[in-house]
Amino acid sequence: MIDYLSGLNEPQAQAVTHGPGPLMIIAGAGSGKTRVLTFRIAHLIENGVDPFRILSLTFTNKAAGEMRARIEKVVGYEARNIWMGTFHAVFAKILRIEARFLGYTSDFSIYDTDDSKSLIKSIVKELNLDDKTYKANVVFNRISGAKNNLISADDYLANPLFRADDEAAKLPEIGRLYKAYTTRCFQANAMDFDDLLFNTNVLFRDFPEILNKYQHKFQYVMVDEFQDTNVAQYLITKKLSAVHRNIAVVGDDAQSIYAFRGANIQNILNFERDFPEVRVVKLEQNYRSTQTIVNAANSVIARNKAQFKKNVFTTNEEGGLIDVVKASSDNEEGRLIATAIFEEKVNKGLRNTDFAILYRTNAQSRAFEEALRRLNIKYRIIGGLSFYQRKEIKDLLAYLRFIVNQNDEEAFKRIINLPKRGIGDTTVAKISVSAAEHRVPIWEVVSNISRYVAGRATLPIESFATLIKSFKILLEEGKDAYAVASHVAKASGILRELYEDKTVEGLSRYENVQELLNAIKEFVDNPDNEDKTLSSFLQTVSLLTTADESDDDGDTDRVTLMTIHGAKGLEFKNVYVVGLEEGLFPSQMMLEKREDLEEERRLFYVAITRAETKLTFSYAESRYNWGRLNMCEPSRFLFEVDQRFLMMTKGRRSGGMDDYRNNAEPSSMNFIRQIANRTSQTPKGTTETVKSSAGVSSPKVPTPPPPTNGANTSSEPFVASDTSTLEEGNRVEHPKFGKGTVKKMDVNGTDRKAIIHFDTTGEKTLLLSFAKLRIL
Ligand code: ATP
Ligand code: MG
Repeated sequence: MIDYLSGLNEPQAQAVTHGPGPLMIIAGAGSGKTRVLTFRIAHLIENGVDPFRILSLTFTNKAAGEMRARIEKVVGYEARNIWMGTFHAVFAKILRIEARFLGYTSDFSIYDTDDSKSLIKSIVKELNLDDKTYKANVVFNRISGAKNNLISADDYLANPLFRADDEAAKLPEIGRLYKAYTTRCFQANAMDFDDLLFNTNVLFRDFPEILNKYQHKFQYVMVDEFQDTNVAQYLITKKLSAVHRNIAVVGDDAQSIYAFRGANIQNILNFERDFPEVRVVKLEQNYRSTQTIVNAANSVIARNKAQFKKNVFTTNEEGGLIDVVKASSDNEEGRLIATAIFEEKVNKGLRNTDFAILYRTNAQSRAFEEALRRLNIKYRIIGGLSFYQRKEIKDLLAYLRFIVNQNDEEAFKRIINLPKRGIGDTTVAKISVSAAEHRVPIWEVVSNISRYVAGRATLPIESFATLIKSFKILLEEGKDAYAVASHVAKASGILRELYEDKTVEGLSRYENVQELLNAIKEFVDNPDNEDKTLSSFLQTVSLLTTADESDDDGDTDRVTLMTIHGAKGLEFKNVYVVGLEEGLFPSQMMLEKREDLEEERRLFYVAITRAETKLTFSYAESRYNWGRLNMCEPSRFLFEVDQRFLMMTKGRRSGGMDDYRNNAEPSSMNFIRQIANRTSQTPKGTTETVKSSAGVSSPKVPTPPPPTNGANTSSEPFVASDTSTLEEGNRVEHPKFGKGTVKKMDVNGTDRKAIIHFDTTGEKTLLLSFAKLRIL
């Protein structure tokens, strides 16, 4: 067993061993909040608390999995019984158990955002509203906002206060749409993501005996990333802990980045009001990052007005300065960062997993993907258009959803004519309308089509109904998820259709469906999953958060590419925060209000504080956006960091972005450009023609050395020497590290390395086939 208490500082140990009663830790990034929560759970179990009676709410399923694994190391197998997961996953589990109280069955479907928007579109059409005014996106966000504030459709319609803002005034029919949407979801035995919170609250509000059951069940409640809980989440958690009052929340107001989804910093203040006996523990020591990174992060967040003052320090080493890389285009940015990763790996002997590239929006990943692929560096993308969002995957899943729940209207719409059965949109619309008119579920109409819809077009519907019935029999026989899914993939004709498509895309879609079947097989074979039904598999899939999804193929040594939102709570040795340009980060949409800009700044703070030892910022001077080439300005955030921590000009602790501002052919910019030129060569240093994103081909010229401290500042081109004669004692020059003396040669087959002591940057081991050195 691990002695978990010995690796804690004093306040951490206090929090871990804190007995009954509420506990709150609001502390800076990397101060051990998540670690404290993990060990606290282990400690409780060690001291006899039943894991079934512990509820722990995390931000992603992945975070929950990691926590559980760590707890298992301390307490063993029992860790599996903890109620641990995201708010959505835990509430969905409760709702499945109690579904009948709300008029649902436990097989209810979970609509993803696409399903919700598609349903909204149909309703807008049916109500004859203008779909330009009532865009699915706008309506969806409006409804979502209401639900997250626990405002029901009836409340919305009844209370003019909820319609008092400008947007609502322009959209007077939102209430009616909200009402119709809710009714349709209910008829479809479906809940959307927001319903998982909203309905849990309804359940606990309207059925006190059920609330009572869970209140007594959960003896201890923990919440990580508390700063990002919204009103509904907080209210439910508060209710659940009202009996035992053993609730521990940890978070950091400086990392609150979900206000746009309704997260409310106010919850932190409310907590002290709702639990006046709370014990507040402060954690001030950062264990994650170097002093430079911690101080740079502090200098940024100090600019926010709205914050709880706290003191974050570290006793870790000072560490190197933050590199600022400027690129001429987004493609070049990709190449520069990929090359920088390549060099860091070689020079420092790091693994791919030590690196993360963090961006503001998913669309930015492409340039980095291409560049990493060219250098044969494996990567994984988290979020974005992931596996489960691909069309062919959603198609098969829609079949499976419909077999489990024949009222699932959105699944029905997806599959009714897939593969093609000659059923037109008009027929589908007729079915929807008929179901709505008669107030019966879709399946009632589909399975008795001649009773509801007249005409010849009904024949294919009848055979579709027969097909679905044959699939349902498998479920009724108690077949597991894999047995059902593999049969459906074949018998529905989905696999055959993809198989017959011999294009490259067709083949890859076919493989993806196979891959989904593999995933289902794995799910069924996994001994941790007690419930192997299709319904249980579907639930797991629909609750994956974007931060859980990745393209992993089992090879785990990969560079991580993800949005900053997705990176919350994670840490990496080397972090590249890219696309630091005005309008991109901070985002154009967040520039109008102080609160929005402060939220973007917190996001920047989150990005910085993911780095352990090395942090790099980058920006491009031009970038394609919606097919147009735009010129970009460096982000204001680059100027907001205390400039002493940035490295972009001669020597240490000077310059920063100031030179950019003063802009008299700034030496710093010159330097950045030189770095840019240098590193955009291929690692072997061959000259190549690089097509820039502006479409101009330009031959790369040999690059001048950058002016490093004490290094050559002349502008003559840096020409790397032939290093085959290099020996101990030679004086050399490196374009980035400056001048130095060869301390030791290390020849191992064709792999020649030199240990060089650089005058200003210290000792480095360089692989000679890659390092560009000039012998002096
Ligand atoms: P964030 O705000 O980013 O979520 P956090 O406060 O949750 O950060 P953790 O992720 O728990 O911080 O810890 C950050 C790092 O510091 C982890 O690698 C953790 O193992 C390490 N750490 C925390 N406390 C200690 C300690 N007392 N001794 C050694 N390492 C520690
Ligand atoms: Mg954490």
